[in-house]
Amino acid sequence: PNLMLDAIGTTIFTVMSALATQHGAINLGQGFPDTDGPQDVIDAAAAALRDGRNQYPPLTGVAELREAVAAANHRFYGITVDPATEVVVTSGATEAITASLMALLNPGDEAVLIEPLYDTYLPVVRMLGATARLVRLNPPDWQLPRAELEAAFGPKTKLLLLNSPMNPTGKVFSADDLAFIAALLTRHDCYAVCDEVYEHLIFDGLKHTPLMSLPGMRERCLRIGSAGKTFSLTGWKIGYVTAPARLATLVARAHQNLTFTTPPNLQRAVAIGLAKDDAYFAAMGTDLAAKRDILAAGLRDIGFIVLPSSGSYFITTDFTPLGFEGDDVAFCRHITEHAGVAAIPVSAFYPADAPTHYARFAFCKRETVLREAIDRLSRHF
Ligand code: PMP
Ligand code: GLN
Repeated sequence: PNLMLDAIGTTIFTVMSALATQHGAINLGQGFPDTDGPQDVIDAAAAALRDGRNQYPPLTGVAELREAVAAANHRFYGITVDPATEVVVTSGATEAITASLMALLNPGDEAVLIEPLYDTYLPVVRMLGATARLVRLNPPDWQLPRAELEAAFGPKTKLLLLNSPMNPTGKVFSADDLAFIAALLTRHDCYAVCDEVYEHLIFDGLKHTPLMSLPGMRERCLRIGSAGKTFSLTGWKIGYVTAPARLATLVARAHQNLTFTTPPNLQRAVAIGLAKDDAYFAAMGTDLAAKRDILAAGLRDIGFIVLPSSGSYFITTDFTPLGFEGDDVAFCRHITEHAGVAAIPVSAFYPADAPTHYARFAFCKRETVLREAIDRLSRHF
């Protein structure tokens, strides 16, 4: 067997969802909404199936979706994109991340990754024979340690992987953070793979700023989006990469050997979704922020320390005040099995020397479900 894959183990999201099912727990672990996204987008996918959109679509995505992605880049961020050469549609952001890393990394290259990190990043960097340089954000406010970030860059650095809004912390990198990162990329002549799947799931009046929109960054960034997140349809697995043509071509080369194409009916429906009015996108953030507030208040009342979250589906909590004896993995197992609520241990987002007193809860659920989860936990603690 491939020794690297053999060593990875099953993703924590699958492990905790299975445990939740086994114990009939409310699943606030794996991040997926319990209400499907817009009916017109779903209807468009169904209609497209009946409409004969069932054979291989073009390698880089159907024209309508590439055009819709280009238009969204311009509408939301003022980024001008050529839909013919600068957009690649992938089977989810997961494939987009892998294809982007494949497009850039050679064996011996270094990639700067920021901890806590989404669990796809590191195994792919390593499989490509590259080395990760890890920079750790400092809880509880997840500050970017600038001197350490700077020190992680060197002659072998090829890219930085930036996830904002960030999973699991809910951190939105500030304008200052982004400017600092942009200066480093320019100085060291590096690229950025920008995982922006939560671009529209952002709260409290903040506005998402793609690193790509900063001066000098248009040619250095591969910007990744996900219809799963933007339309609350996580099973659809439609992702898209926006990148300068030279890099988009390489992403497409990777894509042709990973999946080659992505279901055309879903692509058509996502193109219709991306053309929705501004009110739809704004409501994504307001609706989710209300859910965040309900869960955060409930968990605080129980005794958790709830860390701030400005975006994504998630809040991280410090469960130390509850007096539980055991680490975060034991804690998340315990509440799944005995309180009937599943969460994700945040140590899963660190390859080594992880903090072990944080649990991540997903709040992308109906209000009644969130309240039931809070009730269950408060009865238990
Ligand atoms: N990146 C991050 C940070 C995520 O949280 C997720 C969520 N699943 C993904 C990528 C993958 O997105 P997709 O489901 O579109 O593959
Ligand atoms: N991104 C989702 C999360 O963080 C899970 C996706 C997956 O299960 N791979 O919960």
